[in-house]
Amino acid sequence: MSSPSTATGPTALVQDVAFVGQLMESLSVPVFVLDTDARVMIWNRACEQLTGVPAPEVLGTGDHWRSFYEQQRPTLADLVLKGRRDESRPARPQAPAAGGRCPPALSIESWCDMPRAGRRRYLAADASPIFDAGGKLSAVVETLRDLTDEKMAQIALEQLATRDGLTGLANRRCFDDTLHAEWNRALRQMQPLSLLMVDVDNFKAYNDAHGHLGGDECLKRVARAVASEMRANDLVARYGGEEFAVILPNQSLKGAAIVAERIRCRVEQLQLPCRFAAGHVTVSIGAATAIAGQDNHASQLVAIADAALYRAKHLGRNRISLPMTEAA
Ligand code: GH3
Ligand code: MG
Ligand code: MG
Repeated sequence: MSSPSTATGPTALVQDVAFVGQLMESLSVPVFVLDTDARVMIWNRACEQLTGVPAPEVLGTGDHWRSFYEQQRPTLADLVLKGRRDESRPARPQAPAAGGRCPPALSIESWCDMPRAGRRRYLAADASPIFDAGGKLSAVVETLRDLTDEKMAQIALEQLATRDGLTGLANRRCFDDTLHAEWNRALRQMQPLSLLMVDVDNFKAYNDAHGHLGGDECLKRVARAVASEMRANDLVARYGGEEFAVILPNQSLKGAAIVAERIRCRVEQLQLPCRFAAGHVTVSIGAATAIAGQDNHASQLVAIADAALYRAKHLGRNRISLPMTEAA
């Protein structure tokens, strides 16, 4: 960077420093600079606005971390200073400066709770070392970009692509992808994989009696009830219409039958009244379990659970059913 000054000697130096100060203040990008003792040399106006921390409060101190974290932990600039790239989990690691001895520049993107600003922002940070004429590390500069709006838009798009609009559960596409991934995992780890197909009983009649909006409300309640029985690694999806699918990784058929019975009871206990019958809304559930192998396929698991569901319907509904061979 060159100064507009044409003066030389101490006057030029003073002008250079003033110029750099003005330049930093005029930047719309939040920037702060640490000296080699990890003390703040520069904290520009954009950084004040982002963090809610005025420059006089941090200049000359090592308290810059307080602007980003509740608990003390190094910022990206601190990591560059210490040459501890391993702690940063960088989103875009960059090559060390020429010679390989110098601390590398680091980049990261992550959510940050910003204690002083009192808001959660998604920040992209880039930190780079600055060297003096002799090649010695003299400071580290960190620039920040607030990507919260872009991140929220990305999350909303991902939600649209993977969530069912009515129930908020995973959609069919997400179910297909997850089943495929879990099948491959079960194959690698030689673990069982279980599947439940859950279908609302006599739902056509429910719609006829309560109207389509009443039917929608019922589906939402049933979806919540099914989801409430899930463990962290399970996935419940709206398979289609009034049918839900539950993927139970590393679950035996016995375990799957227990989960299925819990779901059936939970829906029954909702006591959602049916105008067309004396009772309440109920579900029938078909279960299937497989040990993934080269000679079988995830779609067979769906077919077996579907066949079991069909039997549950045939036997009178409001029940769970296991595959014929296993049920005996
Ligand atoms: P069974 O006990 O054999 O499952 O009978 P059923 O009446 O539940 O099954 P059927 O397949 O005959 O009817 C399913 C009904 O679900 C018909 C369809 O209009 C309704 N349905 C599917 N999707 C939705 C939805 O998003 N909202 C509402 N309200 N109804 C839906
Ligand atoms: Mg049905
Ligand atoms: Mg159905």
